[in-house]
Amino acid sequence: MDYTSVKTSVAHLNFTEFIENYKKVLSDLFSERSNLEEISLNRGLPPFVMRDIMACEPLSVFISKEYNGRGGNVQEALSVLEATSYESLPLSLMVGINGALFLQPVSIYGSEEAKNNVLSSFTSERKLGGLMITEPDFGSDALKMKTSYDTSSEGYHLKGTKHWAGLTGWADYWLLTGREMNKDGDLNRDIDFFIHDNTKKGIEVSEVYQNLGLYMLPYGKNEVDAVIPHGYKLIPKSNGITMMLDILHRSRLQFPGMGIGFVRRLLDEAIDHCKNRIVGGSPLISYDQVKHRISKIQSYYTVLSAMCAYTSENAGMDKDLSRSDVPANAIKTIVTDYMQDAAQSLLQLVGAKGYRLNHIAGRSVVDSRPYQIFEGSNDILYQQLSESVLKMMRKAKQSNLYEFLNNYHLSVKSAQILKDSLDFSVDMKIAQRKLVQLGKILGRVLSLNMVIELGEKGFRSDMINHSIENLKIEVRSAFAAYQTDTLPDIVIDYHEESSWANITGK
Ligand SMILES: Cc1cc2nc3c(=O)[nH]c(=O)nc-3n(C[C@H](O)[C@H](O)[C@H](O)COP(=O)(O)OP(=O)(O)OC[C@H]3O[C@@H](n4cnc5c(N)ncnc54)[C@H](O)[C@@H]3O)c2cc1C
Repeated sequence: MDYTSVKTSVAHLNFTEFIENYKKVLSDLFSERSNLEEISLNRGLPPFVMRDIMACEPLSVFISKEYNGRGGNVQEALSVLEATSYESLPLSLMVGINGALFLQPVSIYGSEEAKNNVLSSFTSERKLGGLMITEPDFGSDALKMKTSYDTSSEGYHLKGTKHWAGLTGWADYWLLTGREMNKDGDLNRDIDFFIHDNTKKGIEVSEVYQNLGLYMLPYGKNEVDAVIPHGYKLIPKSNGITMMLDILHRSRLQFPGMGIGFVRRLLDEAIDHCKNRIVGGSPLISYDQVKHRISKIQSYYTVLSAMCAYTSENAGMDKDLSRSDVPANAIKTIVTDYMQDAAQSLLQLVGAKGYRLNHIAGRSVVDSRPYQIFEGSNDILYQQLSESVLKMMRKAKQSNLYEFLNNYHLSVKSAQILKDSLDFSVDMKIAQRKLVQLGKILGRVLSLNMVIELGEKGFRSDMINHSIENLKIEVRSAFAAYQTDTLPDIVIDYHEESSWANITGK
């Protein structure tokens, strides 16, 4: 896309001025009723909205100064994501895709030639980028992808089918993934990443998807038959799979940036609505069940604040995050479950009015739902979180969960508080559903640790205490589900003798 008509740079602003300017532009754009209707009811983004947003150079926070960016500071990136998602979750995903799934990987693993040619164009020419990993037959199973490449004097020739890549048909650059075809015609195990310039052709959109939510973002199916010049393949430090883990963990660790603005907005909407809506002669906010819902949303906000602080301190661009599976998977699952739960709660509180296509409550439910699916389905990530912890426990020859977590650096401050729910011996061979349940417990134990650390840094203590109470309830309830011994099975061919009407009529 070409937004080059707007050239006024905001590069000279200090970060406070930069983010305030960005917030003001977003707030003006999204509070204007006519804009909001156009943005929320139509697919894509009106060009004038895109132009004004890009003029604020939000993507510059993901780029180092050497390539005309603001420096690639993670705290600034999280602040931009937060400001964006307060006004629009889809827009925040667009910024997040560009930052975590294109600019950061290229910055860390790109050749000098690629970085020189590609990164600067994101600020000077307002380019957009995305990442294609998923294939129709290989989603969760991404390592088995069938997109292949061979190498010639021209470069790397990539062929395959990719789908569901955010910004399909819209991005100027793509990170494409594939496996090398060896001499026998088989695909090597490792995954490689390539930077593709869309003006060079080679990617055809064969189908446009009617995505349920996130209307702003185009999705679809792409046929890839592209030649990538030498110098535009990412250079792994060890192997491609480790590089992919670093990229995905880095992205997952930045999910709190997208989540926090979104949840804070839902919290503001919930408080505002419940203070003003009178039911049975009293404002909704006076009802205990309403307070319960809002208290949970507020706790999510506190937990996400703690996670942003954690990411700012632990996920800098200089760090290799390929082994950060435990915090990355805990953070991604908890953030996205909280986003969806907060949206469901707001819709409940707003009632029928919220079930309109252009109301933030209903939109938030569908817009936040895929976060639980993409970049690692939550069911799988919770399981992996448990497996990582069980592996460490085996290595430490420790089977008592509390004893292990009380000495583990990511839970050393929270384990004691949760001792009554954690003081049991874990069976190392448990059913998958139990691993998932255990993952839910572990994610919350780690979250509580981050909340305690946030409190120590000076975050207001009443919110910290409420969040601790909410997390304790969540852990107890997850523990109760984990403790259940039965593993109810399913009847696949259940149609015979399973009609209540036939039985009642006999
Ligand atoms: C809005 C949206 C945006 C996306 N953006 C991108 C993008 O920018 N780039 C990109 O490459 N891809 C993107 N994706 C694709 C996304 O990453 C995949 O959808 C995801 O990896 C899951 O793959 P799948 O849809 O093929 O589901 P499947 O792999 O078929 O899995 C479906 C479900 O099956 C269950 N399941 C799968 N495996 C297991 C298992 N081992 N154990 C137990 N349960 C299991 C889980 O519940 C899972 O959610 C996006 C998807 C959506 C919806």
